Amino acid sequence: MSTNLEASAGQLGGRDIRRVVYSEERIATRVREMADEITHHFGPDDDLLVVGLLKGSFVFLADLVRRIQRPLHVDFLVAASYGTGTVSTGDLKLLYDPEASLRDRSVVIVEDIIDSGHTLQRLVPLLREREPRSLDVCTLLHKRLVTLDPAARWVGFDAPSEFLVGYGLDHAEDFRHLPYVASL
Ligand code: 5GP
Repeated sequence: MSTNLEASAGQLGGRDIRRVVYSEERIATRVREMADEITHHFGPDDDLLVVGLLKGSFVFLADLVRRIQRPLHVDFLVAASYGTGTVSTGDLKLLYDPEASLRDRSVVIVEDIIDSGHTLQRLVPLLREREPRSLDVCTLLHKRLVTLDPAARWVGFDAPSEFLVGYGLDHAEDFRHLPYVASL
């Protein structure tokens, strides 16, 4: 498949898009399914708070919450474990904390991709201290390189262990705007 968007994306940052891994249509179908599952998972007493991990989850989060058919609030968290390269530094920096209280709420953390799992393994205990009623993880992509505790409850796709971009995912801030997920 070759679109104008791909042709222009291929010139960004001197890196080329190798192949489209998840098309726009495939992502839309899966996001709808996940939103349905989340809609039905929670009861009427759950005070649902969806927390997006920025920046990577912003596109997924926007599509997901618009398909969830129940009341919810949205907040964000910035936890940086990657620099501008493609290798994890292992450091987790909390650059922005959710404004909302997590206490007694049903919290769903929305991730773009789980790779080494370092981000969530360090983040989840930190958020647990804030005494949410429940804490679940929803990720669009999971490379399945690690077994997380707790496991992500909602996973869009089991991703190949390649460096992926698009649909929120970047390489040195390029490619986030692509409507599909591609490998470099
Ligand atoms: P982890 O802590 O699980 O290794 O990685 C979490 C974060 O690293 C993700 O939220 C994402 O920002 C970044 N990351 C991991 N794998 C990839 C990838 O294949 N492509 C991009 N663009 N970012 C990735």
